[in-house]
Amino acid sequence: MVRVAVIGGGIGGAELVRLASQYPLDLVLIEPKDQIECQALYPEYLAGLAKVDELTAPLKPFCDKVRVEWVRDRAVSLGLRSVVCEKIEVEYDVAVIATGAAQNYFGVKGAHETFSINTFEETVRARKFLEESDPERVMIIGSGLTGIETACVLAGSIESSIYIVEMANRVLPQFSESTSKLVENALSRKGVNILTSTRVQEISADSILFGDGSTLDCDMAIWTAGIKPSKFIEDLKLPKTKGWITVDQYLRALPGVFAIGDAAWIEIDGKLSTKTAMEAERHAAHTARNLHKLAEGSALEKYSVRASTDSQVALISTGCDCAVGVYGKVCMDMPSHLIYSLKSWIDRSFIKRFK
Ligand SMILES: Cc1cc2nc3c(=O)[nH]c(=O)nc-3n(C[C@H](O)[C@H](O)[C@H](O)COP(=O)(O)OP(=O)(O)OC[C@H]3O[C@@H](n4cnc5c(N)ncnc54)[C@H](O)[C@@H]3O)c2cc1C
Repeated sequence: MVRVAVIGGGIGGAELVRLASQYPLDLVLIEPKDQIECQALYPEYLAGLAKVDELTAPLKPFCDKVRVEWVRDRAVSLGLRSVVCEKIEVEYDVAVIATGAAQNYFGVKGAHETFSINTFEETVRARKFLEESDPERVMIIGSGLTGIETACVLAGSIESSIYIVEMANRVLPQFSESTSKLVENALSRKGVNILTSTRVQEISADSILFGDGSTLDCDMAIWTAGIKPSKFIEDLKLPKTKGWITVDQYLRALPGVFAIGDAAWIEIDGKLSTKTAMEAERHAAHTARNLHKLAEGSALEKYSVRASTDSQVALISTGCDCAVGVYGKVCMDMPSHLIYSLKSWIDRSFIKRFK
């Protein structure tokens, strides 16, 4: 049987293992955490609107159920036939890298000391601080999807003054101008202070210094301003684009090594895959089928990007059970409760698959 080592049990890796387990493959999952986590629900968890068991599923019972070997370890490098982990070495015929991305602080002084909601541990720490310190001013740095959702849900559930800081001249700069406008209106209705064309230069314990020399008092700063390849990806000797693993149309970096999810640079037929859960899940489903084909000796299927950087697909929570929907050039905020229900259902049903 072909032995497949999947490195990383997040959205992409866990979904891949779940789907590939229906085929005659010898699957091993390498993941240091003991649970699968749904990042899309971190903003709601931060605001006290989602419960732990809605966004996490324990790995052990899931792996037992689908008869997948789970190695609770962190991969440090990839050899030709084995994954070197901190404690052990795992042999493979085929490897799939699904280790996600790391927070990017862009070298801003003091940014490492801020709160982040890039991991569950960080989100738990931020929620604890919110509950215990009741900050007067919360500053959210970065207005991508995570920053927007965090600002909106917090504005709807806590008394603090919320600020969102963005270096570009509009929020959600990676989306169309009409989407930015719609989201900016939602933020304003909630009383969120929007600071666009504003560069954060330095962050200290109680204030933020901006590029123009001005400062603002701040009791809590939450950094959501970007992601970068992790140290593990950085150290791998594989083809890269801007530090991410470059893959071919079958999502392979090398004949026996696939890369999926945030860790991969997936550009096919001129479309660049977005770093979203939606795309990571599609990469996983596609790769599960291709692993089966590989094991059978049949031709691999080409991947087709759905949510690309120039045609975004997203459901963006705007707080108080409302959301905005984006599909390419179409962007709508009505019926906002129905769009939110759809988003909530998608996010919550992801974790249910692993229980
Ligand atoms: C706050 C937040 C909200 C988001 N909201 C949305 C949303 O609403 N919709 C959407 O589509 N996307 C959303 N995203 C993006 C989405 O969550 C990611 O694109 C998606 O999780 C990527 O999946 P992945 O499998 O590549 O990485 P991840 O889900 O991050 O999983 C990576 C896994 O690899 C493990 N790992 C890391 N390094 C190693 C190693 N060296 N060895 C072994 N294991 C390792 C990690 O522990 C982790 O479990 C959000 C992201 C964040 C942070």
